Amino acid sequence: MTVLLGVDVGGTITSTGAVTVDGEILVERRAPTHGEGPGRALATLLGLIADVRRAAERRGSAVTAIGVGVPGPVDTVAGRVGEHVPHVPELAGRPLAAELGTHSGLPAFVDNDVNALALGEWMFGAGRGARSLVVLAPGTGFGAGIVLDGRLVRGIAGFGGELGHTPIKFDGPPCWCGGHGCLAVYASGRGIAEAARGRVAGDADAPLLRAAGGDPQAITARLVFERAAAGDALAAAVVDEACQALGAMLGTVVNGLNPEVVIVTGGVAASFAAREARILEAARAYAFAPALAATRITIVPGDKRTSMRGAAALALYEQGRGGHAS
Ligand SMILES: [Zn+2]
Repeated sequence: MTVLLGVDVGGTITSTGAVTVDGEILVERRAPTHGEGPGRALATLLGLIADVRRAAERRGSAVTAIGVGVPGPVDTVAGRVGEHVPHVPELAGRPLAAELGTHSGLPAFVDNDVNALALGEWMFGAGRGARSLVVLAPGTGFGAGIVLDGRLVRGIAGFGGELGHTPIKFDGPPCWCGGHGCLAVYASGRGIAEAARGRVAGDADAPLLRAAGGDPQAITARLVFERAAAGDALAAAVVDEACQALGAMLGTVVNGLNPEVVIVTGGVAASFAAREARILEAARAYAFAPALAATRITIVPGDKRTSMRGAAALALYEQGRGGHAS
């Protein structure tokens, strides 16, 4: 049996799996990305790849290619990681695809992690069989990936699908990307936590702050959603704004691209799933009704396994295209 190696490089954990062409994970290993110290992400990556490859080969599987998802934009024409990878700065600017190819003797492909995730959902997941889909992935930040007419949309500089940094409020607060009022400011894990911290600032009696043990830094998106569900008005206001922002993005995606399927996944998706009705209500307020009615919207909580399968899907996709990066 032939398998692909899928590698998801996270800011904290790197996961590697041997994945069949049907998306089944046969072998799986994880390690702290910076386990051997700062600047050691590449060593972690190479170690995991060698480890999983050996384990797959012991099971009688032949590895045909490696796919790697990294948390930032990638120049896939040059096979080079972009300069903006704050969680794994040692990979910035590296010709990672060529390095892995030389090291392993296998074809290797590198792309943005959420582009890989979109390919995974398209080939193996909730978007299987669709001609077009958009993946929106609120996690710590807010990633997205677009497949249109059977092709991943990468754009001219590798920023294709960066919908998390679409301004949804033109005079909104500054975003860490340098823009203003981005979707990520309202609907990512970091954005939701920061919005809640802003609202409790100066109010030591705020129930949300007390629920966080009095430490604003202990306020997480998950806590904000939990407290909102428990009736905390301040947390509910933050969650409502996040749902409205996500609904506005669904309107943008549906009106602008009219895909068959939109999948909301990523680390915050499980929290959003409980608010699906509110999100769709907001989407209806922004989208063309016939376009929205024709689009299947699904919320799928994401995990490391889906990211790893996405990286394997990247390798499969590129092999199917003859490895022509563009
Ligand atoms: Zn932004």
